[in-house]
Amino acid sequence: MHRRILVPSALAASLVLAIPASAADFAAGAPGIGDPYYPASGNGGYDVAHYDLRLKYRPATDLLEGTATIVATTKQNLSRFNLDFGLAVGEVRVNGRKAAFAKRGDRELEITPATPLEKGRSVSVVVRYAGKPSELKIGGWTAWHRTPDGGVAAQEPDSAVWWFPSNDHPLDKATYDVSVSVPDGTQAISNGVLQSQSSRLGWTRFNWRSNKPQASYLTTLAVGKFDITTDKTAKGLPVLNAYSRDLGDHAGAARASVERTTEVAEWLEEVFGPYPFNALGGYVPNVTSGYALETQTRPFYSPRQFANGANVSVVVHELAHQWYGDSVSVKGWKDIWVNEGFARYSQWLWSEKEGEGTAQELADYIYALHPADDPFWTVKPGDPGPDKQFDIAVYDRGALALQALRNEVGDEDFFAILKGWPTVHAHGNANVGDFVTYAEKVSGKPLAELFDTWLYEPSKPAGAAAAPAGAAAAARTGVRPAQPTSYRKIAATNSVHDHGHDHHRSHGH
Ligand SMILES: [Zn+2]
Repeated sequence: MHRRILVPSALAASLVLAIPASAADFAAGAPGIGDPYYPASGNGGYDVAHYDLRLKYRPATDLLEGTATIVATTKQNLSRFNLDFGLAVGEVRVNGRKAAFAKRGDRELEITPATPLEKGRSVSVVVRYAGKPSELKIGGWTAWHRTPDGGVAAQEPDSAVWWFPSNDHPLDKATYDVSVSVPDGTQAISNGVLQSQSSRLGWTRFNWRSNKPQASYLTTLAVGKFDITTDKTAKGLPVLNAYSRDLGDHAGAARASVERTTEVAEWLEEVFGPYPFNALGGYVPNVTSGYALETQTRPFYSPRQFANGANVSVVVHELAHQWYGDSVSVKGWKDIWVNEGFARYSQWLWSEKEGEGTAQELADYIYALHPADDPFWTVKPGDPGPDKQFDIAVYDRGALALQALRNEVGDEDFFAILKGWPTVHAHGNANVGDFVTYAEKVSGKPLAELFDTWLYEPSKPAGAAAAPAGAAAAARTGVRPAQPTSYRKIAATNSVHDHGHDHHRSHGH
């Protein structure tokens, strides 16, 4: 969501009258927002401010019925425009009037309003739809998790097309009201604050609100039978965690991890500054996947995260994303390091705080773990390519880059950078270059070479000044660093980061 300067309406009206537009001045909005990694993601020509999703879901059949009301502003004169969406659409209205629409390919909904839309105007779009998300396959694959008692949408880089129409790219963030009606005894979990819930004629409606800009892939829905815990933080922030009643042997370890959410968020506030959103929590549905995802205010955790006992490290990772990824979002998917390098480094900092190995010890261990001919070093965290977007190197080499920065600028500047960045770019978008510029500004040091070495060179950095001090020492002596105590817990959050997605085979989120 981009902030706009409001023009007094009388003036706006006179400007419009002064420049009558002819049909030739209107053009179709682009079917993609311009992300080279995912050309079909998002759309051109408008910017969404708010989504109102009014849904009804039947767990027995997986039938989802919805009315999406989208409030947007046009950025060009539009003869037509696209939304990203995969389910069957029954009706579209633009500014109240019926609009023509057509499906194009797997995920494009092309909308032609009754009258063309002028640039800089507020526009409302209502889409009525129905379908079974589990039956929508794009490239043979579905992001929708069908569970024994419902369904879950939580996937990166996209999941929205399976359950609501959107401008599906992090560049266009918006606020959300998500209202979901489900059979009594079933719960619907989403982001933000549970404003209200009420039951009538056998159906219970849950009303959720996210009042800060939220990317479409961070918007989540989980329907099923959950046990819900609620509380407030010392500062009065509502906390809501939800656990499927069907977690089997993982139930205890899941709770022993996710119930640490408030404590972890308080610690992260010391590192990253004030928590950026209106609610806290997490949920563990009865899905068969293995990964976790930083869905805004309420991360998604697969039960398998807790197969070997409690793992607070994954909670640290997903909550760190609330600052790095959710509040400050990527400008394009190539900037994924700004999310994952920092979320991984926060796990190292938690290890350091818990006395289970310092960030330097973890850096030394991981640096030594991968010999120079390991393909690990060919992945460029600063621009990994769509096939390597969630490669382990984006995480581990990405965190090594931050340890190298810490060694270069010293702890005082390093932690000032970590805390300052989420404030400077709160609720916005930023890229890797923006971070380099910011780190140079805070530290007063030229850092382009350091980041080039650690984020862009397709080879193992050779010690020197840029390498973590300990790693350089180890390289000289040939002694392999000991495995820090926390390493296994952190590495466990690698193997469970598998998307189960053909296109992004390795690690995620
Ligand atoms: Zn992550």
